[in-house]
Amino acid sequence: MEHYDILIVGGGAAGISAAKSAKGKKVLLAEREEKLGGILLQCAHRGFGGDLSGMEYAATLTAGLDNVKVSLNTTVLSINCDKTALLSQKDSGRRKISFSRLILATGAMEIAAGALPIAGDRPKGVYTAGMMQKLVNCQGFAPDGPVVILGSGDIGLIMAAAIAKMDIPVTLVEKEAALGGMARNRRRLDGLSVDMVLNSTVAEIFGERELEAVLLSSGEKLPCKTLLVAVGLECDRKLIRKLENPEWLRLCGNCERVHPMIESVINDGTQAGEWACGI
Ligand SMILES: Cc1cc2nc3c(=O)[nH]c(=O)nc-3n(C[C@H](O)[C@H](O)[C@H](O)COP(=O)(O)OP(=O)(O)OC[C@H]3O[C@@H](n4cnc5c(N)ncnc54)[C@H](O)[C@@H]3O)c2cc1C
Repeated sequence: MEHYDILIVGGGAAGISAAKSAKGKKVLLAEREEKLGGILLQCAHRGFGGDLSGMEYAATLTAGLDNVKVSLNTTVLSINCDKTALLSQKDSGRRKISFSRLILATGAMEIAAGALPIAGDRPKGVYTAGMMQKLVNCQGFAPDGPVVILGSGDIGLIMAAAIAKMDIPVTLVEKEAALGGMARNRRRLDGLSVDMVLNSTVAEIFGERELEAVLLSSGEKLPCKTLLVAVGLECDRKLIRKLENPEWLRLCGNCERVHPMIESVINDGTQAGEWACGI
């Protein structure tokens, strides 16, 4: 069985930073997608490390990984308490490896519409905001309007601005009395045509095969063809659910806690790499 000093699961900003700081060790960085970068690869907006887009920032981050074996298209299926892991690689199939230390850098998952107490079906046209961000920025997709976005955190604000710039009618629905997210993301809406409904939420979805409208808790019915759910992220710790916090494991980046800014993710990943090297 192949053995690594350090196995890093997840090749987003946290995993890449951990790998870069794990100097002098035999490191495997496993990433299920075909490219390193994680969430950065779907962020066309500026605001990473100054004024770079997420995509540009990812390009700067991935340089200098020469000390590391990077395995792309590789999903880590399970982690076992005997310090082995089962990997599945697109072309070469499954293999088991062993490791001395594990860094989990699997990021965060979006809370989907199915998890929310909203009546009605989940017809075509209901997406998470991050999924739509990926479709728009990576595949040139344009959502059918009108669009309703539920939740005005950072992802909701960024997507409201992106959709308004495409001249598609968009309404932002927020249950609190004021918009959420960071001030710099709220400013992205300045000068754009975005309707806002505060103190309200989506109570019911209408449409059997395709989305037709949503009913708000205020009683207003909004006709729409697309609903984006932007109600938050949850740390993705599926792989370690059965492990009881072993001393050979460290979490970093968004799977440890959701970070709004890239700098703290890089810092966290770097510290995890140093920990794994025993620095
Ligand atoms: C929509 C959005 C906008 C943001 N905008 C900004 C901004 O403008 N400025 C800023 O500074 N910060 C921003 N951030 C914050 C910051 O950029 C992110 O928090 C950070 O990039 C997250 O990095 P990560 O490595 O923790 O997670 P991710 O980037 O999510 O990486 C996790 C990686 O793990 C992989 N993975 C998961 N499970 C497995 C498995 N089982 N096997 C193999 N691989 C796996 C995934 O494919 C993914 O590549 C934003 C965040 C989001 C979500």
